[in-house]
Amino acid sequence: MVAPTEDAFKHAMSANAAWSAYKTHQNPSFFSSLATSQKPAILWIGCSDSRVPETTILGLQPGEAFVHRNIANVINPTDLNTMSVIEFAVRYVKVQHIILCGHTNCAGCAGTLASRELGGVLDTWLTGLRTVRDAHEAELSAIQDDAERAVRLAELNVEAGTRVITANKAVQEAIKERGLQVHGTIYHVGTGILRDLGLGTAVSADGVSSVVANGVAEKREIVTGKHGVLDFSDAGAASLAVK
Ligand SMILES: [Zn+2]
Repeated sequence: MVAPTEDAFKHAMSANAAWSAYKTHQNPSFFSSLATSQKPAILWIGCSDSRVPETTILGLQPGEAFVHRNIANVINPTDLNTMSVIEFAVRYVKVQHIILCGHTNCAGCAGTLASRELGGVLDTWLTGLRTVRDAHEAELSAIQDDAERAVRLAELNVEAGTRVITANKAVQEAIKERGLQVHGTIYHVGTGILRDLGLGTAVSADGVSSVVANGVAEKREIVTGKHGVLDFSDAGAASLAVK
């Protein structure tokens, strides 16, 4: 971490020079092969929060995740920015997975629950989150703990977002034609663990999540790294799929 007295920009510039030299030393063709094309398997849509840097938490490298992040990972079908990223990633980059990720300790969720006015365009941006909050008011107000209530709102927001994503025409075509998968997840800032909510294409035609259906939805954790995917089930057993 940069010391308070250190210039963060100068630090970032020198860290970048050291990083690029290190990567080139490790693999002399690393950057030149990236310069020719990109073939990321994942489109990541997450919050702008500095504690949820997708490439780092997924153990990925440059070129392995196409990314869109906005405040509170709100998915609005009329937002040209989000929808352009989705359409480009699906139609042209041809990603295999779309991962929508909410997170614990999200200021957008906490502020929405507290009905805090942020001013400017921020309250307009968070309209969708307030709609989700109001639609689930009874469930949310029954949760005593403020942090837990904010996590639940984050989950409901991801659920609403995956519905918008799977309703997108380009996404629907890719699901049908080449098996594109849409996932809803929550990242736990305090543990570093990404949790699969069993939403999106994991939900069957009768509306039941395949993850929930086998009874492990709340306790299942999936950890994806550069070389493999760790899947923790509620039985305490972990399986490792090596890429
Ligand atoms: Zn957030």
